[in-house]
Amino acid sequence: MKILENVLLKNLTTMRLGGPAKFVIEIEKPEEIKAAHEFALEKNLPIFVLGGGANTIAKDEGFNGVIIKNVMKGIEATDSVFAQTLRLTRSLSSEPRNDGRERDGLRENTSVIITALGGTEWDAVVEFACNKGLTGIEALSKIPGLTGAAPVQNIGAYGQDISDTFVSAEVYDFKEKTFKTLKKSDFGFSYRKSILNSSEKGRYFVISIALELKKGEMKRPFYNSIEKYIEENNISDFSPLKIREIVSKIRADKLPDPKFEASAGSFFKNIYLSEEEAKLAEEKGLPVYHGHDGYKINSGWLIESAGLSGKLLHGFRVNEKAALVLINESAKSYADLASARAEIITAVKEKFGYTLEQEPVEL
Ligand SMILES: Cc1cc2nc3c(=O)[nH]c(=O)nc-3n(C[C@H](O)[C@H](O)[C@H](O)COP(=O)(O)OP(=O)(O)OC[C@H]3O[C@@H](n4cnc5c(N)ncnc54)[C@H](O)[C@@H]3O)c2cc1C
Repeated sequence: MKILENVLLKNLTTMRLGGPAKFVIEIEKPEEIKAAHEFALEKNLPIFVLGGGANTIAKDEGFNGVIIKNVMKGIEATDSVFAQTLRLTRSLSSEPRNDGRERDGLRENTSVIITALGGTEWDAVVEFACNKGLTGIEALSKIPGLTGAAPVQNIGAYGQDISDTFVSAEVYDFKEKTFKTLKKSDFGFSYRKSILNSSEKGRYFVISIALELKKGEMKRPFYNSIEKYIEENNISDFSPLKIREIVSKIRADKLPDPKFEASAGSFFKNIYLSEEEAKLAEEKGLPVYHGHDGYKINSGWLIESAGLSGKLLHGFRVNEKAALVLINESAKSYADLASARAEIITAVKEKFGYTLEQEPVEL
């Protein structure tokens, strides 16, 4: 376990804002999390678990507490799914599975369980799976950040969410001071949401996660931008590696790389609507998508249509190619971000009547 003092949060978060954190503790072995917890309790300091900082906004005053980081890395695949799944499910619950697994021997035998430690770069997990010809997370290629954070906001892109393949996570429970296995149904997954960023925010430290992937490939129709790319480039190979390559190219063309440009990815969530609200929106001529996760309006479209695309607001550029993304070009303070955010929210509210909600977590 490594304890660091007075570490600037702008160096730990991809939006590159934020003053000093009093302590940063790096967890190198699972049992060290208990000692880190004790350390914070003894000093009566709050805890914040941080991954790669790609979805976290820090404030100018910093954090008078203990930042805990999972730096344990590693990925493992178990082909004998049957044994591994049984072991996992037995230890998790005696609930009957309702997904047809017991009835369908073929599905069972073609699945693979991937286990990854929380400090592993998420994209390394995707690359590992794709290299093995496993489908289920290839559309989640190049999402910045670490594996431990991936289930927290139920990362998703191009028609896949991590909840689609999620099996379980090994966690430390700060409330009960115990290690636990949380299964998928414990996470309460929905759009960019799980109990870890809502009802049980701050309660768990994710040590590792397990995903169930399948040999094979994604089924058409794919997400619009993938379909468009396939058509334009006359592609008929839909293997996980090929889809990973396509998604990587689409992303590189429109999203900033945190290594070179400061951002927190999508700064606002999309607007989800009930059937009735969707009907009203369509009557007003707004583009409503009916995806696998319900009716939605792309908030990027709302920002663009409010005339903000490409604008520089208080040091933040509204990304011209994906208006949901704010790039920190020259802002130095959280106050600049708050002003830019307020301007965007007001412009969208005045033009369309919808209130945008921030996606990244605030420290
Ligand atoms: C350019 C860019 C593009 C992006 N594209 C996408 C996208 O396509 N889809 C998408 O869903 N997201 C996207 N994001 C957001 C971000 O990549 C994800 O939310 C990612 O999961 C954040 O990982 P992180 O390790 O950086 O998390 P952090 O920002 O460090 O943490 C995020 C949250 O998770 C918690 N957390 C982190 N690690 C742990 C742990 N081990 N145990 C318990 N809690 C933990 C933190 O407390 C915090 O609440 C993008 C971000 C950027 C910068």
